[in-house]
Amino acid sequence: MYSVRLFCTRNAALFEKTYNVLENVFIALHPLLNKLGYNRLEKPVATIEALSKSFLFDCKMCGQCVLSSTGMSCPMNCPKNVRNGPCGGVRDGGFCEVNSQMRCVWVEAWNGASKMKSGLERISVVQPPVNRELAGSSSWLRVVREKAELKLSLKQQVAQGDVDLAKTEMANAFPDARKNHPSVAPLANEPQAALAEQAVVEQTSVHTSVDRSLDASVNTTLHTSAPSLQKGGSK
Ligand code: SF4
Repeated sequence: MYSVRLFCTRNAALFEKTYNVLENVFIALHPLLNKLGYNRLEKPVATIEALSKSFLFDCKMCGQCVLSSTGMSCPMNCPKNVRNGPCGGVRDGGFCEVNSQMRCVWVEAWNGASKMKSGLERISVVQPPVNRELAGSSSWLRVVREKAELKLSLKQQVAQGDVDLAKTEMANAFPDARKNHPSVAPLANEPQAALAEQAVVEQTSVHTSVDRSLDASVNTTLHTSAPSLQKGGSK
C-alpha cells in the first residue's frame, strides 16, 4: 500500500531499530533454527516475510533485501528495478518518469536513509545486481544463516588459534582506514622479523615520552595479545 510505504520511509529510524533487535534475536536462535532445519523453515518464514513486508514496504520478495541500505524504500518498486539509483529521470517534485503518480523510490530512499544511523553511508555502497534465482525466498533466514555461521566459524578459528583477536578488533575498529591502507591494521600473519624488538620499552619513542608507570600495563597488554613478542620484551 503506497501510503504505508511512505510512512515507513518517514519512520525509517524506528524500523531500523526494530529490525536490528529482531535480527539479533533470530541470530541467537540460530542453534534452534538449525535443529529445526532451515530447509523446512524456508516456506513458512518466506510466507510470513512476504505478508508483512508486502504490507509495509510493497515488497516484491527479491530474496536479497537491501532495505536497511535504502532508507526502508524498496528498490524493486522502481519500474526499472534500479538497485543503485536514481536513474536520472526524476521529475520535478521528486516524481518517477515512468509512473508520474509515484515519488521516485530513490528520492524516498535518500529521505529515509538520512534519518537512519549510518543510513547515508550505507546508501552510498554500490549494490550487486539481483540474483533472480533467489526470488521468493526468505531474506531474513538468509541473513540469519550467514551472520550466525560467520560468528561460529570465527569462534572456531579463534579456538584453533587461527585468529588474532587483538588484530581483528583493531581491523574492525578502523574499517575505512583499513580499506584504503590494509597495512595500518593488518590481519595477515607477521613474520618474526617484523615483530623483533618492538616491545622493548627503551626502543620506542612512545614509551620514552610517557609515564613509566604505564609501561607495565602496556607490556602486559602487548604480551597477552601477541605472545610472539614475549621474547623481545624480556630482553
Ligand atoms: S529489497 Fe527485495 S526483499 Fe527487500 S523489500 Fe524490496 S523486494 Fe522485498
